[in-house]
Amino acid sequence: VTKYDLMVIGAGPAGWSAALQGAKLGLRVGVIEQSAMLGGACVQTGTLPSKTLRHTILQLMATRRAAHIGVHATHLRSLGIQDLMGPKSAVIAEHQRMIRAFFERNGVALLPGSASFAGPGRLRVASQCGEQVYEARKVVIATGSRPRRPEDLPLDDRVLCDSDSILQLDAIPRSPAVLGGGVIGCEYACMFAALGVKVSLIDRRAELLRFLDQDILGALVYSMRRMGIRLLLAEQVEQVEIEQTPRGSQAQALLESGRSVRAERMLVAAGRCSNTAALQLEAVGIGTTETGLIKVGERYETEAPGVYAVGDVIGFPALASTSMHQGRLAVLDAAGEPAPPQRELPIAVYTIPEVSMVGLTEQACREQGIPYEVGIARYGETPRGQIQGDTEGMLKLIFRRDSRSVIGVHLIGQGSSELVHLGMLLINHQDPIDELLAQVFNYPTISEAYRIAALDGINRL
Ligand SMILES: Cc1cc2nc3c(=O)[nH]c(=O)nc-3n(C[C@H](O)[C@H](O)[C@H](O)COP(=O)(O)OP(=O)(O)OC[C@H]3O[C@@H](n4cnc5c(N)ncnc54)[C@H](O)[C@@H]3O)c2cc1C
Repeated sequence: VTKYDLMVIGAGPAGWSAALQGAKLGLRVGVIEQSAMLGGACVQTGTLPSKTLRHTILQLMATRRAAHIGVHATHLRSLGIQDLMGPKSAVIAEHQRMIRAFFERNGVALLPGSASFAGPGRLRVASQCGEQVYEARKVVIATGSRPRRPEDLPLDDRVLCDSDSILQLDAIPRSPAVLGGGVIGCEYACMFAALGVKVSLIDRRAELLRFLDQDILGALVYSMRRMGIRLLLAEQVEQVEIEQTPRGSQAQALLESGRSVRAERMLVAAGRCSNTAALQLEAVGIGTTETGLIKVGERYETEAPGVYAVGDVIGFPALASTSMHQGRLAVLDAAGEPAPPQRELPIAVYTIPEVSMVGLTEQACREQGIPYEVGIARYGETPRGQIQGDTEGMLKLIFRRDSRSVIGVHLIGQGSSELVHLGMLLINHQDPIDELLAQVFNYPTISEAYRIAALDGINRL
């Protein structure tokens, strides 16, 4: 029986970072991956494909806007979906090559096949070559998640798609609709709208993305409506059917309110389910929650000693960024190494415009009775915002009135997923808002908004 110090199940971001961390600590590491492709949902169907597609669409939008300086892209109308999807294949291939190269360089053994527990410290790997059992001192479960496909919806992966099959679109739909106003639903609704088609977004909740600060959410909803997104909120879907029409098949959603939505293509973005069924967790006594998530303690250890679980398989926040972080932390703990202190984590939602946040929202400060003040800057107040035509972007700083330390940073506008990191450092170092006035910012930049927001906030005290 081959023995490893650390066996990782899954080569998505949670698994690949756990494996590399293990190798850096000098452990003998094996990664079991059932798919022929590396990188998990992040590389194959989630983060990278959707963000590459979004980038291509943003470039198209920029070309349209450039008409005022005489750049006319007359062929835009004849663009097919392959033109949009093309760049994503290159990004996926390059990223897989990189992961494979990292594994090779760090001596991580890649073991193809589907893993399950054969007992404490024993993993069974089933592949085309048969079954093999390995012994592992420590195990990290990083098996990720897949789209939730509600049984009462007739998903056919052509007219009614999930976030995996939407990537196989054969043409830009003339009338798309999205069921579900979470992060993935909002991101795809914005991409469709940016292509110039009318899109309907249906959600049973009265508000989208409730974790966002109210001011940022308000600005986002305004932008989405202005892009032509029809928001059908607080609407319960009663039934969805695929019907044949002389122009082809289409989906029809009947809502409890009596309204109906017809769409040439409908994306069902109804959340994600953890990949745990094949693991035979009962062989090692690992429990799952009602929604199928693996239960872990503070250091990501499961109920079975020496077995950790990280990434989407344990649920919120279920991001590639946090999955990688959790993978590293779990292995540090498994190896008895000290872990870095807990930090505030940034969140980005790649809507158009994108939004990003770190720390507390204004509503959370009110609920927790924290004495706070806010400072706001519009991108339009910076020359860079005016130059790049992004005048509606906004930065909102939240800081304590007593210690003046920054406790929340919220952004909407171009590049906000990048700009947020400066705020993240302020928060994690417990810097006072005054620190922003002590710094010189490049000019002209959007980052100057930090200084303007700080001045605004201090003036309100
Ligand atoms: C459309 C979409 C957009 C997204 N956008 C973003 C974004 O912009 N930013 C961001 O941070 N996150 C984003 N995410 C989330 C991100 O993709 C996930 O959080 C991340 O991929 C989770 O990583 P993971 O390693 O836990 O799981 P996964 O990436 O799902 O990888 C799990 C791996 O485990 C393998 N596996 C499963 N079971 C077994 C088994 N029994 N044996 C062997 N191998 C197994 C799978 O084949 C897979 O390779 C997005 C997700 C989606 C769907």
